[in-house]
Amino acid sequence: MISLENVFKRYSDDVAIGPISLEIPRGGVTALVGPNGAGKSTVLTMIGRLQEPDAGTIRVGGHDVARTPSKTIAKVLSILRQENHFVTRLTVRQLVGFGRYPHSRGRLTVEDEQHIDRAIEFLDLAELQDRFLDQLSGGQRQRAYVAMVLAQDTDYVLLDEPLNNLDMQHSVQMMKQLRRAADELGRTIVIVLHDINYAAHYADRIVAMNDGRLTETGPPEEIVRGEVLSRIFHTPVEVVDGPQGRPVCVYF
Ligand code: ADP
Ligand code: MG
Repeated sequence: MISLENVFKRYSDDVAIGPISLEIPRGGVTALVGPNGAGKSTVLTMIGRLQEPDAGTIRVGGHDVARTPSKTIAKVLSILRQENHFVTRLTVRQLVGFGRYPHSRGRLTVEDEQHIDRAIEFLDLAELQDRFLDQLSGGQRQRAYVAMVLAQDTDYVLLDEPLNNLDMQHSVQMMKQLRRAADELGRTIVIVLHDINYAAHYADRIVAMNDGRLTETGPPEEIVRGEVLSRIFHTPVEVVDGPQGRPVCVYF
């Protein structure tokens, strides 16, 4: 389980995130949604230890992230940030190999190579694995970064807008793969999603933020309703019945 207890972060006199208290149970896919600037990335990076809160406690799988050595946390939790993806003269396979660092400490074993193969396969990158990152499209590069995170093979996986730059085919493919990682491998996936329809369709629970605060938490049946979504996103959203009675959000 991931738990946040009165977590608070102040950026400036008028921008603060929290206090937030939240429990995300083990397993399944949790979508973090909300408008730009709501505080989603701040929350995710604090859980992922890339940023320290000013106050409060965050626990992941029982570890207090502020008090647990990085080496231990890196085997429990992996995170893909929204930005700052470095583009250097690395091949896709080398990048994915970095995901194994917490396990291999730089010396890849046969088992590490198998994890790399699996992650490359998972993200449909086999044909691109020897290409350099600067020879890829934005979406291909995005998939390579997600593969690196999955190769880390942690129980908890945090992804900040991983569908950015992806075309329809690869967005759907990635969500299906993440669903499988949760269902078949028991991973706990927390994912920031821009498009509410992906959250509605693939998430087990939705956590909504607004203005630095948590405003709603619940299963899609509760959150994916016109009046709730219109409130969260500050724009009219209509929910209609799609194929197989599944809800589709219309906001164009
Ligand atoms: P989201 O991911 O939901 O778009 P963020 O967590 O990135 O939101 O940002 C939340 C708020 O905090 C925004 O108002 C943003 O401008 C501000 N913010 C984010 N990072 C910083 C920073 N490093 N310094 C100052 N303000 C920041
Ligand atoms: Mg963000």
